Amino acid sequence: MLNFWRFDQSDAALGRLLEGSYDPLLVLLSVGLACFAGITALLLADRIIASGRTPSRFWWLVGAVPMGCGIWAMHFTGMLAFRVEGASGMTYAPGLTFISLMPAVVGSAAALYFIAHSDSGGRRLQWCALLLAGGIGTMHYTGMEAMRMPGLRYDFPLFVLSLVVAHLLALMALRVRFGMRRLLPLTPYTTSIVAGLVFGFAVAGMHYTAMSASSFYEMPQSATAATLLSDTTLATAVGGLAMLILAMSMLASWMNRRMESRRRIELERLAHTDSLTGLPNRLPFQLRLTQALSEADAKGSQIAVLFLDLDDFKTINDSLGHAIGDRVLQICASRLRDSLRADDAVARFGGDEFVFLVHHINSVEDAEGSAKRLLQRLDAPIRLDDRKLHVSGSIGLSFYPQDGETAEDLIQAADTAMYQAKRERLRYFLFDRALSDQARERVRLISDLRDAMHNDQLHFYYQPWVEFPSRRWAGLEALARWMHPTEGAISPDTFIPLAERHGLLLQFEEWALRRTCRQARDWLDMRFDFGRISVNVSAHQFARWDFVDELRGVLYETGLPGTRLELEITESSLMVDHPTVLQRLERIRELGVTFAVDDFGTGYSSLNYLKTLPLDKLKIDATFAKGIPQDSKDMAIVRAVVEMGTSLGFSVVVEGIEREEQYEGLLVLGCSYGQGCLFSRPLPSGSVEAANASVQPLVCD
Ligand code: C2E
Ligand code: MG
Ligand code: MG
Repeated sequence: MLNFWRFDQSDAALGRLLEGSYDPLLVLLSVGLACFAGITALLLADRIIASGRTPSRFWWLVGAVPMGCGIWAMHFTGMLAFRVEGASGMTYAPGLTFISLMPAVVGSAAALYFIAHSDSGGRRLQWCALLLAGGIGTMHYTGMEAMRMPGLRYDFPLFVLSLVVAHLLALMALRVRFGMRRLLPLTPYTTSIVAGLVFGFAVAGMHYTAMSASSFYEMPQSATAATLLSDTTLATAVGGLAMLILAMSMLASWMNRRMESRRRIELERLAHTDSLTGLPNRLPFQLRLTQALSEADAKGSQIAVLFLDLDDFKTINDSLGHAIGDRVLQICASRLRDSLRADDAVARFGGDEFVFLVHHINSVEDAEGSAKRLLQRLDAPIRLDDRKLHVSGSIGLSFYPQDGETAEDLIQAADTAMYQAKRERLRYFLFDRALSDQARERVRLISDLRDAMHNDQLHFYYQPWVEFPSRRWAGLEALARWMHPTEGAISPDTFIPLAERHGLLLQFEEWALRRTCRQARDWLDMRFDFGRISVNVSAHQFARWDFVDELRGVLYETGLPGTRLELEITESSLMVDHPTVLQRLERIRELGVTFAVDDFGTGYSSLNYLKTLPLDKLKIDATFAKGIPQDSKDMAIVRAVVEMGTSLGFSVVVEGIEREEQYEGLLVLGCSYGQGCLFSRPLPSGSVEAANASVQPLVCD
């Protein structure tokens, strides 16, 4: 019969107060068991959560078993450590002994459930600590009832204190589990160990406070027919549960090791795989190539490395957004992978670059065949949503053993050949040793270019464009110059494509725009009226989704009125998605900025197309001026463009006028504007002011 209410110590039936004593070793063992169980439960819980295998709604139940068993085993080890004067050992009612395990498991489950749903606030933490303390307390006092000791009495204040101790220490364990990581830089593992230890002390603290609340009086025991558990049987049961906890602890550490090794494998896989396309990246490719080279040595066979770079991929990315760009890359990657032979390999080297290893080449034609096959696979249009995109690529090829001895050399050689393919607008190009020097030069230049902007090596020269026949300056074009410390002046025709290929162009152009606008503002402040200043803008810059905002920002920052700025864009910038281009042009024109189509005549656009866009000026490319006035075809082209362009409302400027006779010829053709060395070379900013002041005073509007 359960009788928790044992606070009346004045009961006449009670005999002499008996002395109790503890076996210190067993006390230590009991505390150790509780701590061990706490740590095991928390680590096991951590592992189960981290493994992501077991449904998360069950892991707290799994943790509750060792924790509950730990509480129980702690209690009964504590009881085994306890001796009451005159008694050789205690006996326990088996049913109650077993039932006392329940509140321990339930209390633990409640606490671990809380840990599993840890997004809760402090109040829930209090409740959980209360539940855990309740579980520990109920277990303890039920366990005490299982003991055949009718003369057991409790001291009420100490009884309450035992529950308070359990609550506070349980709360502390939970706080450690959650709060400590925020305060101290501990790993989750250490946190669980510390919290497990605090938990152990919560159980032991409760137990020993409760034991100090207990007094044992002499009292005759009623005879019972029920089977009772002796100390020895109990010790066996405790030992059994301790073994269970141990087994679970081993399970936790096994899971830990398994997870660690899985995580390592996963990390390795990630480090070797391109996450977007799932293709291997540079590192495994190099290893595979190195291995293939030694196999080729052994067999005396040939290997080809193909370096493929998508053409104008940046334009897709910049104009249609990165999401579309990523999908295009994924489609290209899967097409390229599908067109490989089984023992060949492909990797993505980042951006839009793919590299291939082609085994068992019998002749150069074999490798060329592979290159053609890959390019053909890319050629098919890509349909994305309601868009149809065309992607093409350029390939460079290098061969082992003739073009390099190591994997790195061969990749570099193929890259150099690819670059040459792009320059010469060929679909593929075979590596040639002479290219290698150029490549080295290029690598050096590109690293110099990175620093050039900061080291004040990049400058702007300004070339006026003039009105016919007065030859008055109508405006200035900003042209970049790179004064290399050892190479001297490097033309933008050289460094701009270089910057573009190495991803530096946007950064450069942003800087160039700001720099030019600031210069123009300074001139206005000096009351020098230059008309409009024009800045060359690449297709990539123009296609950037945030270009309009950037431009607005630069104008605001430098204080240059938009009506003083003109942007020179090439035909290719305008030949993408018409509605987007139209909208962008209109938004920029709202700022007062005008547009000139640069190098007109070298692209594929037609006046018919251009007239649908809000453009202001056509700049006829210098190649057409060359043949004026002697070449009748050039004359015919320029005449047609001038006539049609003017009638469509464009100002037409002819570039590259060097000789007086060209100027005369252009006058005859009805040209109104021109630019070229005949009127003025591009000038550094200081000379612009001087030239303008001394030679060409501009009329202010
Ligand atoms: P562009 O915009 O067509 O510039 C005109 C080019 O013609 C300039 O070459 C100029 O120096 C050159 N030129 C001037 N007078 C004559 C002449 O009488 N005869 C001939 N044949 N050419 C003449 P430059 O400065 O070497 O620039 C080359 C190209 O580089 C530019 O062509 C432009 O497309 C690009 N560029 C220059 N600066 C920048 C820049 O800041 N950003 C961008 N994106 N491109 C730039
Ligand atoms: Mg230009
Ligand atoms: Mg031009």
